[in-house]
Parts: sequence; structure tokens; C-alpha cells
Amino acid sequence: MSLQTRLLGLIAGLLFAASGASWLAYQQLSEHLVQRWGQQVAEVQVRYDSARLVQSLEREISLAQKMANAPVMIQWAHQPDDPALKAKALGQLKEFRSSVSDKSYFVALLANRHYYYNAGNDTDTPFKYLLDPDDADDSWFFTLVNEARDLSLDVNHDTELGVTKLWIDVLMKDENDQILGVMGTGVELATLLEDIGDVGQQGLTTLFVNYNGTIELYRERNYLNVAGLIGNTPNATIDGLFNDPEDKQQILGMLQMLKQKPGTEGEVESGLVTVDGRTQLASAAFLPSIGWFEVTLLDLETLLPRSYLWPLIGIFLASLLLSLLVLHIVIRSRILKPIVTLEGAVKKVREGSFELPRLDKPDNEIGRLADHFEKMTRSLEQSNRELERKVAARTDELSRLARIDPLTGLKNRRGLDEVMEEEIERAKRQGTGFGVLWLDIDHFKTINDQHGHQVGDEILCRVSLWLKVGVRPYDHPGRWGGDEFVVVLSPCDEQTLEQIAARIRLLVEQESRKTGLAVTVSVGGYLCQPDDNCDAILRRADRALYQAKEKGRNTVCISGMDGENEAIVD
Ligand code: GH3
Ligand code: MG
Repeated sequence: MSLQTRLLGLIAGLLFAASGASWLAYQQLSEHLVQRWGQQVAEVQVRYDSARLVQSLEREISLAQKMANAPVMIQWAHQPDDPALKAKALGQLKEFRSSVSDKSYFVALLANRHYYYNAGNDTDTPFKYLLDPDDADDSWFFTLVNEARDLSLDVNHDTELGVTKLWIDVLMKDENDQILGVMGTGVELATLLEDIGDVGQQGLTTLFVNYNGTIELYRERNYLNVAGLIGNTPNATIDGLFNDPEDKQQILGMLQMLKQKPGTEGEVESGLVTVDGRTQLASAAFLPSIGWFEVTLLDLETLLPRSYLWPLIGIFLASLLLSLLVLHIVIRSRILKPIVTLEGAVKKVREGSFELPRLDKPDNEIGRLADHFEKMTRSLEQSNRELERKVAARTDELSRLARIDPLTGLKNRRGLDEVMEEEIERAKRQGTGFGVLWLDIDHFKTINDQHGHQVGDEILCRVSLWLKVGVRPYDHPGRWGGDEFVVVLSPCDEQTLEQIAARIRLLVEQESRKTGLAVTVSVGGYLCQPDDNCDAILRRADRALYQAKEKGRNTVCISGMDGENEAIVD
């Protein structure tokens, strides 16, 4: 995997991890905010509703309570069959009926279980029926008596009377707190709902639940049927709204908590629940003046729809892509490209070439590295060139030394060989000859023996000097070895060969005499022909030298002259 892929992968991973963490934090925060907000909405709602609902019912409740505590009613409840008391009570009730908004009343007496109801018809007989403890429709009465709560509000359908109302039930008690019955009035549900009003907030559902957890009212009228309140099944309890047992437990727990702190109006309990597969924030508050709970359900999905998040996610993804693109461009231009060109340059230098490509030098560590590398390569190239120059010079010197005799400074045998090869080639090319002289110091052994080796060396050096003086500038004198010297003369003819040979011999003789130590040389000469080879040439010159020695030394003998030619055998 390339460095770029790795880097981009790593950065993308880190970005995703960071955004995942931010997303979680955002969710937590938004959930927390929505919960807090929901709680506040519920609190405001409770205050608002307790004001509106209680206001509209308060007058009716207080009238009913006053009526229930009226002495005439208490007396009649004690003796329900007393006609005088009954007439008095019904007279009072007539007044009561005209003062309440529903223009109706009901009285249920425990002593004779008679149920009276009058809804605006003065000629009508108030007695309606006998309450039966075994009849489910009458259970409300016996429950109220058993619970012994002074006031109870219930939405109920009275099958017998054929009306559904919010009933204000007030317990009738004498001074000894003995329960005598229940009386009260009703409120038309439609009127009540109008009074409460619909806040029209989408995703917000308000329910009124009585003390026992039975749903009495939904604020939204559309839900009335859903709760089955208009029909004959009004006993749906709040926990029935939820499928999850934990949710049921939670909502009942919330109501229980509120029951434990009665009178604390505005206290709100809340928690998250699921209704119809949607997460909702349930908040409950107790309305002490009417003894009901108000439960609000906030649909979080409606209030904070997930679709709101799509643009956010879109922006996030776009910025992520953009960041990766920018990173890709930056990494490529500022890191990878310079590294790749630098790598190419390093490879070239490793292969021995100092021809560097143009290096990318961004203003960072890599740029500085490339700059250092370029400078290092330049100085390496310079020292390499210097080294090569020195090696070449040293090689030249060695090569020169390999062809020079260290004692005399003349060409040695190898140097002479090369010169002769060159001259042979030239002779072949141009059809011209060249001359070779072979010299040998006479009785050199004796000189060595008599004067020492060092003097012998000195004589060798002097002879070399005289040799150089005796030849032309373009001739090649050399020391063949021991006390033997060879001179290659080019160009040359017979006469020149003879002249130079004679001159050398004379020069050595005369000059040595000046030094006090007489030295002579014998010289053999040969004028080479274009088709001669090196061996033949040297052999002939050597033979001529041999003849010069034979003739008594300190003499010149040229091959092919004085009849000597016949004596040479190729
Ligand atoms: P000839 O006249 O027949 O040449 O007699 P010669 O004594 O010169 O005999 P030859 O040429 O055979 O002897 C050469 C001597 O040169 C033998 C050797 O000791 C001596 N010699 C060879 N190389 C050197 C050298 O480098 N320095 C010195 N001092 N003597 C050398
Ligand atoms: Mg000799």
C-alpha cells in the first residue's frame, strides 16, 4: 500500500472517529436539550391547564360542594323517605340546578340507593332508578363511597340517562364524617373541551388522567374516540397506551411519585417512552384542585425530525470529502511528489550518474532534505571529478615510470619496445626505414670491480647524458639493461646512422676522458627495412654490436656493411 493511501486512510479513519464521537455527543446533547425543553413545556402546560380547566370547573365545583354540605341535604340524606325533607331538598336542588351552567344535578343517596337526576325539566320526576352494587354501570357510586374522596371528577357515559359528561362528584358527609351519598352536576364534554382549548402543537398530546390512572380526557378531540371515551368503554388506563412493560411501569411510577407529594402543583415527572413505535417524552403533573393528572406526550421525531439532520449530514460528508481532497492535493504536492523525485535522484546517483532531475523543493523538511541532497551530490561530483583527475595523472605517471629507467631517466626496455613498434608501423605505412644503434660499455665489469658499483652507476648516468647530447632531439635513446643502451633514430638513412653512431662513440670517449676515468663504448647499428620485425631488428643490431666488440671494442659496426652482411643469418 502506498504512503499516500495509508495517510489518507488514516486521516479518513481519524475524521470518521472524531465525527462519530461528535455525532454521539450531539445526539446526547440534543436528547438532553429536548428532554429539558419537554419538561419545561409540560410545566408551562400544567400551569396553563390548571388555570383554564380549574377556572372553568371551579365555580361548578364550589356550588356543588356548597350544595352537598347544605343542612337540608344532610337531613334528607339521613332520612331519605321523609317526604317533607325530600320536598325541601328537591326545592333547594331546583335552585342549585338553575345556578349551575349545565342546568342539571344528580343525587345518589347511600341510605336508600336512590339516584336522582334532573336536567332542566321542572315537571320531570327527579328519581330515576335504584343503584345496584352488582351493576357495572353503577360501580362508580360504590367506588366513590369506598374511596371516601371528597371530590372526584369523572368522564362517564350514563347508559341509563344516555349522556356522556364530566361529572363533578361531591361526597355528602355529616358532621361525624359519615358518608351519606354523592351529589353533583355535570359539564358537557364539548363545552369543557372548548374551554381547555387545543394548543394545536404538532407532536404534542395531552391527556388528563384521573387519580386511579384512568384516561379521562385527551386534549385533542380527534383522540376522544381512540380512547373510547365517548363510547361505552371509558375505563382505558394510562399504562394501556404503552406496549413495553417497562414503559407501563415507568408511567405508573411517575404517577405514584406525584401522588406521594400532593399539593405540589407544577411538579413534573418525565421520562422517555415508546408509543406506536415512536420515542416520546412523557411528562406528568398533578392538578390537585381537580384531583387529576395531566400527562403530555412529546413526539421527539416530530419536534426534532431526523430529516432536519440530512442537510447536516450532507454538509458533513461534503466537508469530509473536500478535506480529503485538499489533504490528497497537499500530501501529493508537498510530500509525495518531492519524495518520488528525490528517490529518482538518489537512484541515479547510486547508479553513478550525477545528472540530477529538477528536484521539487517545498518549503518544509522534505524541501530542505532535497536541497541538502542536491548540494551533497554536487560536492560528491566535484570530488569524484578531482579523484578521477588524480587517478588519471597518477596512472599517466605510473605508465611513464613503467617506461623509464629509474637510474638514468632514459626509456627502459618497455619504452624502447613501444617506440620500435611505432616506428615499425610507421615504416610499413610510409615505406621508410629507421635506424637502431645498440651500445655496450666496454669492460664495465672491470670498472665496477675496480671503482665500486656506485661509480659504475655514475658512469651509466654520464653515458646516458652523453647519449642524449649525441642524438637529435627527435631520436629515442634508452637503456636496454645492464651496461647496454639502444637508440632508435627516426627518420634515418645509412649515412645518418653511421654519423650518429660514430659521434656517440667519440663523444663518450672524449667526455669520459675529461672526467679522469676513460670509458668507451662499442656500437652496433642497423638500418631497418619496412618489412622488418622487432626481433629481427634487435638481433641484427646486437650482431653488429658483437662484431664491434670482436673488432676490439670502442668501435662502430653497422650491419650489412664491410661484408658483415654475409655473416648475419636471419
Ligand atoms: P665487454 O667489454 O665484453 O662488454 O665486457 P664487460 O665487462 O662490460 O662485460 P658485460 O658487458 O657482460 O658486463 C656487464 C656488467 O655490468 C655486468 C654487471 O656487473 C654490470 N652491471 C649491470 N648492471 C649494472 C648496474 O646497474 N650498475 C653497475 N654499477 N653495474 C652493472
Ligand atoms: Mg659491457
